[in-house]
Amino acid sequence: MNDRRNILVVEDERDLAELLVYNLNRAGYSVTVASTGRQGLEAVSVRTPDLILLDIMLPELSGTEVAGRIRANPATSHVPIIMLTAKSSEVDQVVGLAVGADDYVPKPFSVKVLLARIEAVLRRTSRGSGEPRLLTMAGVQLNLETHEAMVDGEPMKLTLTEFRLLSALLQANGRVLSRSSLMGRAMGPGVTVTERTIDVHVTAIRKKLNQHAGIIKTVRGVGYRATPEPETEPDGTPAGTV
Ligand code: CA
Repeated sequence: MNDRRNILVVEDERDLAELLVYNLNRAGYSVTVASTGRQGLEAVSVRTPDLILLDIMLPELSGTEVAGRIRANPATSHVPIIMLTAKSSEVDQVVGLAVGADDYVPKPFSVKVLLARIEAVLRRTSRGSGEPRLLTMAGVQLNLETHEAMVDGEPMKLTLTEFRLLSALLQANGRVLSRSSLMGRAMGPGVTVTERTIDVHVTAIRKKLNQHAGIIKTVRGVGYRATPEPETEPDGTPAGTV
């Protein structure tokens, strides 16, 4: 019986792929490796992995192309994807998110940080585990089933749009979400609003968060992110990255 979660690594740099296999195995995952975008798609069709680590710069098909096809296929659209971006450029990150990646980790990264991000993505994307679907950050708690919001143990009254916006930001786990991505998550399909509308909603949410208003950070020219820490990392790099 094999109940280990399977991670598909799509990475053409052999040394890095080997390092990932070694460390993921040690962390208890089973690992499949593909060294081109096309092989990656083949591997997904043979066995749907629990998570995909996807390099952006790949031969044959780019990582963004691969992610797009995985998302477009109903059989695989739910599989969480973490993009390995060549550099911590905002362009790569925004492109990665635009094609539906759940997270991105800029190279070079520490294995410890990567494993933590994998755990976080698996935690928030696992379904049917019977656990209450609670999102917490600082003194803020959102219940995704009952749509109840609490701040420091007191109920917080959020509109549906505000609830969706805040839950999208908390689920993103410190990752930057563009205004257009927030619009898609909060407004539902077919609703078009200006990006300024998102700013208005965020301002309203911050007021309701009282002393925790600072968990929502504005990322100039990109969008918003939520972290429990004070703003110290201008490029969004998680502490501990080497
Ligand atoms: Ca590469």
